[in-house]
Amino acid sequence: MYFENQKTLAEPFRIKMVEPLKVTNEAYRLSKLRQAGYNPFLLNSEDVFIDLLTDSGTGAMSDRQWAGLMMGDESYAGARSWHHLEDEVKDLTGMPYVLPTHQGRAAERILYGLLGGKDKVFISNTHFDTTRANIEFTGATAIDIPCAESTDTETWAAFKGNMDIEKLESLINEYGSEQVGAVILTVTNNSAGGQPVSMANAKAVRDVCSQYGVLLVLDGCRIAENSYYIRHREAGFGEKTYREIASGMFAIADAFIMSAKKDGLVNMGGLLTLRSKDLAERCTNLLIISEGFATYGGLTGRDMEALAIGLREVFNPDYLEYRIKSTEYLGNHLREAGIPLLWPTGGHAIYIDAQKMYPHIPVHEYPGQALVCSLYQTGAIRSVEVGSVMFGKTTDDGMLIPAAKELVRLAIPRRVYTQSHIDYVVEVFTRLKETAAATRGYRIVWEPPFLRHFTARFEPV
Ligand SMILES: *Cc1c(COP(=O)(O)O)cnc(C)c1O
Repeated sequence: MYFENQKTLAEPFRIKMVEPLKVTNEAYRLSKLRQAGYNPFLLNSEDVFIDLLTDSGTGAMSDRQWAGLMMGDESYAGARSWHHLEDEVKDLTGMPYVLPTHQGRAAERILYGLLGGKDKVFISNTHFDTTRANIEFTGATAIDIPCAESTDTETWAAFKGNMDIEKLESLINEYGSEQVGAVILTVTNNSAGGQPVSMANAKAVRDVCSQYGVLLVLDGCRIAENSYYIRHREAGFGEKTYREIASGMFAIADAFIMSAKKDGLVNMGGLLTLRSKDLAERCTNLLIISEGFATYGGLTGRDMEALAIGLREVFNPDYLEYRIKSTEYLGNHLREAGIPLLWPTGGHAIYIDAQKMYPHIPVHEYPGQALVCSLYQTGAIRSVEVGSVMFGKTTDDGMLIPAAKELVRLAIPRRVYTQSHIDYVVEVFTRLKETAAATRGYRIVWEPPFLRHFTARFEPV
């Protein structure tokens, strides 16, 4: 901010290159929506104006990162770009072993492939879906123990992403520490609305892990965003830099997994860092089999160069303030417009309560899908349903077992949209609210056996 009590949330960057967007009319969008079986995943991105499908890999790189691409060293082994990345990551994490991967899930497959197996159990504040899938694929069980406040979606609490420490201890006692593959602390807690984890909670998790001799993994793809919340919401951190706070969090972990597509500020990439030499050697063997040689993993030299720069930029205080406040800005304005959403807002996304917005649409007619389609039809905005389309199950006699909530996620790409784009999103919601009572639900006309939200086709009821 340029002066105290500044009200305008001016972006701390200016635009050097533009990507023109196509302006479409409602008739065009309705025809595209029909062709896509009313599933926005099946739309072409060029038909979308504001794409809030995900914050993963959709950010804009800086001029320095683009310059870094030109400096990429594409040597097979020991490339200069690898050393830049390795030095940066060692300095940031304090961990001696760094493995580059093509994205977060590759790091997960390698690490959990070694730690998992039948009879093993993994415990997390909340497993992200690829984390859970990689764990369950080994035959192991993944158990989520978010803190009690996380289920209250209306009352403000500082750290709804925390892990339930009592449950952690009782689960380790119940299964026995040898059975626990790892405890995984996800910061911010993506699947619990991007809510932050406090340093006090992280330390308490560490203490339990140390007491029982259990490995602690930090799934930290939004570690910089989490550090922002610690500095501004937890006592004793106001004088620390965001990077120092992140270092404090790395210090408690035995291993760190990162999807660099988030706080790495790049479009593709991942990291696995470890403290244990033995585990690092076993992981490196798997890395070489499936990702690539140890000094590039699944990445090109230019990717590694851009990531090394992104990991530094993401801790810039002006960037982080803009990042968190611009997400909050959308949440605050939607809330003022009477749109029901999860509170407080998370770091990377806003979650709309579609069931509250469309109380007349029953769960088996998917209120979240109705909102996702209306957002596109009215405003060319793409979002994602996080409700019974994504998580609902069907019984043998065709009955829907609904998800716990019917949500729609608006994920905010980093450094991509301006405040006027976000004002436009608020305006579209205001219109949808006016016509909410007339909005109809959807039925599924085709679905695949797994992960149906990606490819299912719908029609309006
Ligand atoms: C995105 C994400 C992953 C997986 O990373 P990919 O790069 O998409 O493979 C893992 N954990 C969390 C918390 C994530 O948000």
